[in-house]
Amino acid sequence: MATQAEILEATSQYLIPNYGPRLLAVVRGQGARIWNADGKEFIDLFAGFGGAGVVGHCHPSIVEAIRRQAGLLHCHGNFFTNEPQVDLARRIVEHSFDGKVFYCHSGAEANEAGLKLVRLAAGEGRYKIISFDSCFHGRTMGALSLTPEKFQAGFEPMLPGGVKVPLNDIDAVAAAIDDETAGVFIEPIQAEGGVNMPTAEFMQALRALCDEKGLLLVCDEVWTAPARTGKWFAYQHYGIEPDVMTLAKAIGGGLPVGVCLAAAKWADVLGPGKHGCTMGGMPMCAAAGAACMKLIEDEGLVARAAELGGRAVETIRQADIPCVKEVRGAGLLLGIQIDRPAAEVFKAALEAGIFICYAGADVIRLAPPLVIDDALLDEGLTKVIALLKA
Ligand SMILES: *Cc1c(COP(=O)(O)O)cnc(C)c1O
Repeated sequence: MATQAEILEATSQYLIPNYGPRLLAVVRGQGARIWNADGKEFIDLFAGFGGAGVVGHCHPSIVEAIRRQAGLLHCHGNFFTNEPQVDLARRIVEHSFDGKVFYCHSGAEANEAGLKLVRLAAGEGRYKIISFDSCFHGRTMGALSLTPEKFQAGFEPMLPGGVKVPLNDIDAVAAAIDDETAGVFIEPIQAEGGVNMPTAEFMQALRALCDEKGLLLVCDEVWTAPARTGKWFAYQHYGIEPDVMTLAKAIGGGLPVGVCLAAAKWADVLGPGKHGCTMGGMPMCAAAGAACMKLIEDEGLVARAAELGGRAVETIRQADIPCVKEVRGAGLLLGIQIDRPAAEVFKAALEAGIFICYAGADVIRLAPPLVIDDALLDEGLTKVIALLKA
C-alpha cells in the first residue's frame, strides 16, 4: 500500500489544486476516529467535514444498508422510483413539515433546486433573493450568487438579484424588499461563516415579513441537520417553519445526498420537466440516508447532540481559557471565538492527532459525530483546551 507521502504527491500531480495542499491521505475510519496511510490515528471532531456528520465513520448499520443495496440495485434513472428514496423522504417529512422532496447530490445543488422553485413560485418578474452577510450556500453559480462577495471574485457576473443584508437586522431585510423580490435564503445557524446565531425574535419577524410580502422563506440546513444542533432541524429552535428546506452533508449517512424539501403548498410548482438530476435519489445513497435517519431515531441522537453539546460548552467555559472570547452554537455545532488566528490552532491540533476546523479568522469549529462516546469527546476536548492554553 502507498505511503501518505506518495499519495499526497500523486494528489498534487493529478488533482486540481482548488482545495490547496491536502493535509492527510486517509485510509480508514471508525466512529469518530480516522487513520492515515501511515497508520497514524486521529480523533475526528469535525465529522468528515459534515459528511459523516451524524453517524460517524463506517457505522455498522450504514455499512450494512449500503452493502445490501449495492448487491440489489444501485442505479436506475428517474423514469423509475425505489423504496429507499421514499423511505428517506418520508422520514424527513415526518420529522419536519408536510411537503415533498427533490433529490440531488450536494448542498449547492439542493440550493439551486430551491432557487428555481422560489422563482417559479414567486411568478413572473420576481427574481430577487435576499441572503445574509457571512452566509454560505455553495459554489455553483446560482448558489454562489447568494454567497458573500469574497467567494465570487473573478466569477462575475453573478445571477442578477442577489441582495445581501446583515443578520439579525429585520429593518434591513424590510428595506431590501421590493416588487421584484421572490424569497429569502437563511441558514438557521451560519456554519461556514463562524457559527453565527440568528435570534429567535429575528427568525420570527423574518417569517412574519415573508408572509406579509408573499415571499418564500428557504432554510439552508445543509450543515445544521439532521439532529446536529439538538433538534431534528435547526429551524425548530425558533418556533417557525420555512417554505423550503435544503439538506446535504450529513443527510446521506456519509454518501452524497442533496435534498430540497418544499412545503405541500409549493411542492407541485416544480412540475414535470421543470428540474432534474440524473443520479438523484439512486437507491444506494438513499438507503444510506434512510439508515442514517433510522439510526438517529433508534439511538435518540437528537437528545444526545443536545446533551453532549451542553457538556462540551460547559467543559470549555469552565476551563477558563484566556484566549477564548466566546463559546457559541447549539448541540454539537460549536464555535469557539479566540483572540488569535484560528488556522494556527487548527494546524497544531492536526499535528496533535485531532481534526477540528476553523471559520473565518478567529473561530474554531467543532462538530464531532453524534455517535462519539463521552470518553473520546472528553479526550478530544482536553487536547483542544491544552492547545488553546499553550
Ligand atoms: C456546505 C454547505 C453548502 C454547500 O454544500 P456542497 O455539498 O459543498 O455543495 C451549502 N450550504 C451550507 C449551509 C453549507 O454548509
